[in-house]
Amino acid sequence: MSEPQSEIQHFAKNWQQQLADAFNNIEDLCRYLRLAPDDLPVSVKATESFPLRVPLSFAACIEKGNPHDPLLRQVLPVNEELLAYPGFGNDPVGDLASATQNGVLHKYHGRVLLINTGSCAINCRYCFRRNFPYAELQLSKQKEDAAVQYIQADASISEVILSGGDPLLLSDARLTRLIQQLDNIEHLQRIRIHTRLPIVLPARITDELINTLKLSPKQIIIITHCNHANEISDRVITACNLLKNNGIALFNQAVLLKGVNDNSEVLCKLSEQLFNHGIIPYYLHLLDKATGTGHFEVSEAKAMELIQQVQAALPGYLVPKLVKEQAGAASKQYVF
Ligand SMILES: *Cc1c(COP(=O)(O)O)cnc(C)c1O
Ligand code: SF4
Repeated sequence: MSEPQSEIQHFAKNWQQQLADAFNNIEDLCRYLRLAPDDLPVSVKATESFPLRVPLSFAACIEKGNPHDPLLRQVLPVNEELLAYPGFGNDPVGDLASATQNGVLHKYHGRVLLINTGSCAINCRYCFRRNFPYAELQLSKQKEDAAVQYIQADASISEVILSGGDPLLLSDARLTRLIQQLDNIEHLQRIRIHTRLPIVLPARITDELINTLKLSPKQIIIITHCNHANEISDRVITACNLLKNNGIALFNQAVLLKGVNDNSEVLCKLSEQLFNHGIIPYYLHLLDKATGTGHFEVSEAKAMELIQQVQAALPGYLVPKLVKEQAGAASKQYVF
């Protein structure tokens, strides 16, 4: 099917402009998807604390007229978000306790996570950061310098993880500056970037970005976040090829989500499609129990059953590790 003229024009724009054009309200998104908001359990109130945000590149992967589309479910604000579920709270992974003033989360041995920016190109309704004051933690240039000093001073740190929010929302200039500072730290071996942008805003993978990453003497690893094979559009494939062909190792983490990918065939297809395009399945996370996300929960028993089915169907290297985050633990916890 060929694209309408308006979409061709949109995708000819640069990534910043595409981001500025992202859907930011229920009406516009529903009109584009040929859905009637009145027929859906949508909630405007749910957008007050956590706005709707969906780039067209992601919306274009949603099946028109299908209220149960697994991609739509990830981004549509619904009434269930306002319900209280037992065991769900505002800091499910204990990040507030470990956050230091310089934006460095140093919870695990040898790795530190930098919160570079609080914002994302897409607002995933299941996100554990939806209630988190990440905006306060994000790095100003001064804080960034303090973070670099922190890493410089601790020779046990061999890997820096740029996270957020989405670190690739930083400008190329800002990212280049940060990576150059990290390049100077001798004991650092790897720079890892946790980003959903290659999937939801593939236009972000520009030649300039590739140059910045290629110039670093450190190994660069990108961990994408893709939950369903339908997210892997031709544009996504092009972006991932560009990364892969420039020597960047690609892994994927997904979140196990009710109504999105809680089905072994869907999980198998995701793994195979990722691998077909050079991305190795890394983690399948159990949902972090953040307020507003209870309707996405898949029980641990069901999760184990699903991963066993995936294991029975696929080669071992296509089976992601089923993990959960436990506050205070020294690593992610293997569930299976
Ligand atoms: C998940 C996480 C990491 C990375 O863990 P890996 O198992 O190496 O992928 C590092 N630091 C923090 C704070 C994390 O939450
Ligand atoms: S991209 Fe990641 S951090 Fe951003 S809203 Fe989605 S799940 Fe949360």
